[in-house]
Amino acid sequence: MLCFGCELNEFDAMKRFWMDDDEAISCLRLHGILPSKVTCPHCHSDCELRKERNIWQCLTKTKVGESKYRACGFTLNDREGTVLDKIDVSPWKLLLFFNHWLSRCWSYDLMASNLMLTNDTILTLSRLCFAVSQFWFDTQIPAKPFGGSGVVLEIDICHFDDLTEIEGWRQTVLGAYERHTDRLFFVLVEDVENSLIPVIQRYIQKGSILYTTDREDFLPLKEYGYEHRVVSASSTDQDINIRGIKSKWHGLRSWKRRIRKARREEKYHPRYLSRYLFVNYYLSPDRLHHFLRCVAEFAHESVPER
Ligand SMILES: [Zn+2]
Ligand SMILES: [Zn+2]
Repeated sequence: MLCFGCELNEFDAMKRFWMDDDEAISCLRLHGILPSKVTCPHCHSDCELRKERNIWQCLTKTKVGESKYRACGFTLNDREGTVLDKIDVSPWKLLLFFNHWLSRCWSYDLMASNLMLTNDTILTLSRLCFAVSQFWFDTQIPAKPFGGSGVVLEIDICHFDDLTEIEGWRQTVLGAYERHTDRLFFVLVEDVENSLIPVIQRYIQKGSILYTTDREDFLPLKEYGYEHRVVSASSTDQDINIRGIKSKWHGLRSWKRRIRKARREEKYHPRYLSRYLFVNYYLSPDRLHHFLRCVAEFAHESVPER
């Protein structure tokens, strides 16, 4: 479920947040990146937000004498303990950084020159974004298997490699799209020859109807309790296609160009892959919303609760 007004394509977001910290802060709060509530650790009452100072303050007073009261005095910086702690960037720039990072044609130069960010800030924010997309990748893998008797899923594998430039770097991703629920997941397959079937068995229930472009001799799904329909140009049934999952490999060529450019930073490659998959998983007007929710969840997992 999207929040009200959260359907934003890249330009809508620029228009909405450009140089507007109030709007950006309320968006960060709405998505749980900044807190909506802080409880005082001393008197356990709700603190009040002092917007002008960006702090939360406990206003509780305790009676200490006949007519004497002592204020609790607890305060907390709005960003403290959040994922934005120690990131020195204005809220509107932060949101527009996220917004552009999620675009298919992102560029560091563009962010540096338009948002006037230093290289260090860009690096810090990129690291955060990559960590969030990796967190998303790990959490989108289904806990319960998809499908079931008679349920149609489109499945496809995609190889991400550039063996000519980066020796030995290769990842294979299985994508599965459950048509009637519009749900989708991606999972890495380490060794296609031996583990593709076990991976399918782990994440897709027996009895499901699987549409693939791979023939039975490569993928003997019937032997494992699935119904298997192979997409073919000569088929009279137009419904047997895997357009839903194929559309998720959009922009593969430009992704490969990017990998080639970054070939010296080998350690970044898995992160590039999770970013690529995130950008393809969500359609443009919803993408920023889902990313912001992931930032909040990521922070929740990695920053101790206050
Ligand atoms: Zn939203
Ligand atoms: Zn207090």
